[in-house]
Amino acid sequence: MSYHVKPRKAKKLQTKFIFVSGGVISSVGKGVTTSSLAMLLQSRGYTVAPVKCDAYLNVDAGTIRPQEHGEVFVTDDKWETDQDIGNYERFLNTDLSGANYVTNGQLYQSIIQKERNFEYGGEDVEVALHVPEEIIHRLENAARKRKADFVICEIGGTVGEYQNILFIEANRIMKYRDMRDVMHIHVGYLPTPPSIGEMKSKPVQNSVKQLIASGIQPDFLIGRAEKALDDRRKETLAWTTNIPKENIIAAPNVDSIYRVPLNFDQQGLTDKILKQFGMPSKKNDLKDWKKLVSTISSVRNQKKEYKIAVVGKYFETGAYQIGDVYISVVEAIKHASWANKAKVNMTWISSMDVEKFGAKKMLEEFDGIVVPGGFGSRGTEGIIETIKYARTHKIPYLGLCYGMQLATIEFARNVAKIRNANTTEVDEKTKHAVIHIMPEQEKLLLNKEYGATMRLGAWDCSIKRGTHTEKAYIQGKWINKTGSTKISERHRHRYEFNNEYRERLEEAGLVIAGTTPDGQLVEIIELADHPYFVASQFHPEFKSRPLAPHPLFLGFMQAVVKLNK
Ligand code: GLN
Repeated sequence: MSYHVKPRKAKKLQTKFIFVSGGVISSVGKGVTTSSLAMLLQSRGYTVAPVKCDAYLNVDAGTIRPQEHGEVFVTDDKWETDQDIGNYERFLNTDLSGANYVTNGQLYQSIIQKERNFEYGGEDVEVALHVPEEIIHRLENAARKRKADFVICEIGGTVGEYQNILFIEANRIMKYRDMRDVMHIHVGYLPTPPSIGEMKSKPVQNSVKQLIASGIQPDFLIGRAEKALDDRRKETLAWTTNIPKENIIAAPNVDSIYRVPLNFDQQGLTDKILKQFGMPSKKNDLKDWKKLVSTISSVRNQKKEYKIAVVGKYFETGAYQIGDVYISVVEAIKHASWANKAKVNMTWISSMDVEKFGAKKMLEEFDGIVVPGGFGSRGTEGIIETIKYARTHKIPYLGLCYGMQLATIEFARNVAKIRNANTTEVDEKTKHAVIHIMPEQEKLLLNKEYGATMRLGAWDCSIKRGTHTEKAYIQGKWINKTGSTKISERHRHRYEFNNEYRERLEEAGLVIAGTTPDGQLVEIIELADHPYFVASQFHPEFKSRPLAPHPLFLGFMQAVVKLNK
């Protein structure tokens, strides 16, 4: 095997590359660190392309069980990505793409494809050389795509794992080629064992040593801990890791992840990074962000709280997983609550419990009900019961994807009196398939083509005037009172509203509040004689941002507040 030291291809771009790794424990906060850094550099007038690198061999997250992976976050350009991409979008208030998401599966897939196409021209294709090259190629591609001044590459997992070592190797090679253009930030966890009562830095020292053994001397260290690191800890860490003391940044627990960038900025992180790269601050605009964070605090201190039930099926694998499976839904509810200056108390309810104990017992105390997306038949009857409860008790309801399909079934069964109405996803032989598989999807499934084949990503939808939906989108400033009612939303589904039942359901009072521009596919349903009962085939949660909450969530929260003042 021979190593060639090739010049970096993206020279013209003048992009700076920041790698972020994690140490000691997983879920240490690399995603929030990366998002925060990206937002801070953006606030100084720079364009940033964050990239998440995941070590799994799945090409994308679409085929991974939700309980195992957490949420699958969908981009406009039809990628089923990691939930961190959602964090990046929320912090940057911008749309990202598949270029911001790299997995080992993607790397190996394209390397093997290139090899088969003889694109390596007879070279011996090596893991240790060609995989890092492919990583570098993708990071440069992400830079080019956004014309980015900075690429921030978040390396999934923790240092010391075999799986992500080639991402660290890509970092080493890039640094070797362009010393001044590459930086490494390590995020490490400092435990405070209750029996000792003192914050311990040894695990972080060891994870930095592992990095150094891999050829990376980190430039900054983010110390995640319950409390802010003190001077003593910083001194110890500095002389054991070679990281200047002033580059050791404290990341204590905070009331909201959206406060993290402000903490970093206060410790001079943004200035220090820009200085190290020799770049000026082009502006300094954190005004809106600061306002947001102060709203979050004041809402948190309110006495009155509104109870929201999120009813789904992926909840019973252990409480700690819950938030991750629907992280964008949770965030979207929070964004809308802050915009409405209303404190929300969210409760997860397993639809199996609704089946067991009945809707009244499980839902009585709630001011609003959300049913997020889902797949398969388990727990669906409990969700249908939930929806019936929301409809008949006039509790504000927001249905997302499966939450729209099951709301259609509930309406068909209980209002339009179409007995046994169902979706073919649950009952293939149902006599009344008010929701059925899209014809092109059926072919894909017969061929076992599961990966990235759903109806994915951004599709246009035309909204019907005079509906709750229209009002919400006008309030959210997505459309105006006159002119086009076209919006674009993100999708991930195989089944759809069956048009054969459209007339019958409309006659019974169901309002079709949005369709594809050709009118063919039902995208939003709602009820007229209900304070707020809106359900969409798409996933509005993927487009909700703290500084730009999503209209349908805003409308939902507004109804919750109005009814329960
Ligand atoms: N299982 C439904 C479908 O495939 C809904 C999908 C979802 O909620 N994301 O159409």
